Amino acid sequence: MCKVCSVNKVPLTGSSRRPNADNTPYFEKRQRLDPPSHATASSALNWAPPPSRLPHQAVAAPSTPALSCLDPFGPSRHISTPHQGQTVPKSFNSLQVYAGDHLSRQMVELFEACQQQSIDLERKEVFRARLQEDIQSIFSVARLYLTGSSMNGLGCRSSDADLCLVITGNKKPDPVSVLSRLRKLFRKLSYVEGTCLIRAKVPILKFKEKGSDLEFDLNINNTVGIRNTFLLRSYAHADPRVRPMILVVKKWACHHQINDASKGTLSSYTLVLMVLHYLQSLFSSYACFSLQDCFSPCMEIDMVPEGSTHVPPYISRNQSSLGELLLGFLRYYASEFSWDKRVISVREATAFPKTYAQEWRKKFICVEEPFERNNVARAVHEKLKFDAIKAQFVQSSMKLQARRDLNSILPLRAIINKEALRR
Ligand code: ATP
Ligand code: MG
Repeated sequence: MCKVCSVNKVPLTGSSRRPNADNTPYFEKRQRLDPPSHATASSALNWAPPPSRLPHQAVAAPSTPALSCLDPFGPSRHISTPHQGQTVPKSFNSLQVYAGDHLSRQMVELFEACQQQSIDLERKEVFRARLQEDIQSIFSVARLYLTGSSMNGLGCRSSDADLCLVITGNKKPDPVSVLSRLRKLFRKLSYVEGTCLIRAKVPILKFKEKGSDLEFDLNINNTVGIRNTFLLRSYAHADPRVRPMILVVKKWACHHQINDASKGTLSSYTLVLMVLHYLQSLFSSYACFSLQDCFSPCMEIDMVPEGSTHVPPYISRNQSSLGELLLGFLRYYASEFSWDKRVISVREATAFPKTYAQEWRKKFICVEEPFERNNVARAVHEKLKFDAIKAQFVQSSMKLQARRDLNSILPLRAIINKEALRR
């Protein structure tokens, strides 16, 4: 039976535009979705500290310290060993508190080795800015945004970069024809290679940075991806256990080949929502705020990052270790969750009963997109694939329960070594 309960939403109001944010020339070129200063949110004990960048600071070159603030929560900053005399951030203590046992320490080790580094994000941002300039030669009003795990705090060193090209105007452009024009343009660019147009429900152009393994997925005007990136980002940083937990789950699913929507299994986005749903069932107040209210569809795209400043502070009373959370997550989907009767809804902080609506009818897995309210797990349409996913939850749950060692469900050392070779 689903143990997740519905809760009240906290009303969230107000809006604060960052002063002087657009005063510097470089800022014009740069993605304006950079992280907000979490003035209000940062006071929470367990909330990751805000970025140190001042509103007027410009990002001039990849080597400037300010650039590292592109990822305000910066890699490893909360759990790397502090030098003598250095002040220990509160969240450093927080994560250590949850990593006292062997399994939890292994999870932290995997997280530290694999999480996206500032340098990875800087590289993506430099590429994005360059590409935006070239795109503006044919679409003068277009703006290019970095989204997905590169920006939501849940990325690995090996994660691709998701891009959304926003073209405003009276006439809605046809994504496929825009992408076809971009493909022609990209073939002439010295720093792009391997372009491939995918005509999916949301058409995308796939390409790579020339001479590297950095991959990009570009869509046109799919702005829900910008909103949900910042929604996930707020959940990710609400508690120090969320990011390691999600990274381990993604690595586990990848290893067992159940993390690929193009092959009929779970997208990373679906997995993240599944983890958040499980955590909402444990962290009572984590369920108490309905974060998508802070990133309302009425909000202008450029204001979306500001939404994070409206997120109420969060302190968890749940003291489970990382290892306990992972065991609980696997057990929940192995034996407690009713796949055939429930729809996972992070928006409502519950799993509501399936209705006869087209979206949920005859679907093996139902996970609601918080803004569009459609099923993000619709790629799982074959019974065989669904059974394989469920079987993996059951087997891994049993193995981990018996051994309490991460190696029982994924090859820890091999994954760490592979990630180290990526960049
Ligand atoms: P990875 O590190 O594996 O690339 P990711 O977070 O980038 O993980 P993807 O599944 O690649 O996850 O999706 C990229 C982004 O696109 C998501 O973070 C989300 O913002 C958006 N997205 C993906 N699927 C959907 C969907 N069905 N509906 C709306 N937005 C989606
Ligand atoms: Mg991605």
